[in-house]
Amino acid sequence: MPLKRPGGDEVKDIGLIAGVELGGTKVVAVLWNDGAIVDELRVPTRDPDATLDDLVEGLARWWDANPFAALGVASFGPVTLDPAATDYGCLRTTPKPGWTGAAVVPRLARRFTCPIGIDTDVNSAALAEYRWGRGRGADSLLYLTIGTGVGGGVLQGGRPLHGRLHPELGHILLRRQPGDVFEGNCRFHRDCAEGLLSGPALRARFGATPADVPADDPRWDIVIADLAQFLAVLVHSFAPNRILIGGGVGMGAPWIIERVPSVLMPLLGGYYPELDEQALTAMITSPGLGKTAGPLGAIAVGMATLEDLMEEDMARPVSGAAPLWISP
Ligand SMILES: [Zn+2]
Repeated sequence: MPLKRPGGDEVKDIGLIAGVELGGTKVVAVLWNDGAIVDELRVPTRDPDATLDDLVEGLARWWDANPFAALGVASFGPVTLDPAATDYGCLRTTPKPGWTGAAVVPRLARRFTCPIGIDTDVNSAALAEYRWGRGRGADSLLYLTIGTGVGGGVLQGGRPLHGRLHPELGHILLRRQPGDVFEGNCRFHRDCAEGLLSGPALRARFGATPADVPADDPRWDIVIADLAQFLAVLVHSFAPNRILIGGGVGMGAPWIIERVPSVLMPLLGGYYPELDEQALTAMITSPGLGKTAGPLGAIAVGMATLEDLMEEDMARPVSGAAPLWISP
């Protein structure tokens, strides 16, 4: 199968790619062949041993019939992404019972000898949107999910931003709206973005299912102002070309996204004259892939892992010597 970069350059023929979307309630694995998902399996998420055993068994049926060229994993976090770390591909401290330290990639690598890549669910979804969805052409791309939690993936030059760990955009602290007494419900920070904007936060604020609260309820003004402030922080931080907002808020209530630009623009204070309301409306949109962004994200991680291996020789740093400093 010819593998193409978003720019269109053919990379190399590759075979099958398997992708695993590791989620809090279920694991979805998909098999990709020549531009299409050709098989799928689902495993309920329980404790790590039972879950990963069932997953490996299912993947092994594909592998034994026809080995895949790479395996990509899109995981809930936090997860160690530094390939040089001893706990690469393992979950870090997580509120999910039993999963702290779960050795996801090591368990898969014991059975499957192909390259295995892993990234966060949101970075992976960003990669999928960049390749196939509404992120195409946006070299600086943010993918936000605002649902059970608030998370964000960041691509720069089409590559996911990692850093020491990976961005945790949902835990950015926001300046509170004047007079708002809702205390927020993040278990770590109370009134961070997640503590103010997630589905459970909105339910706690409204005392009702958010979808049942009419759009003209004035309490939505506070929520939209919080969301706009969150986006202002992200616009300043990452200079995105596009911001995709998925999850319960983004996909469930498009009117929220539509109301944001007019609130965001004054927050930016004219600092970016080119970002008028029209430009912000074009920049901030819902994702294009819907729920398929999860499994396709895992496939995109597998593809990126292969591409990185192909480029490795060219990209290797020349030497470890310090540069010579010549005074003028
Ligand atoms: Zn938080």
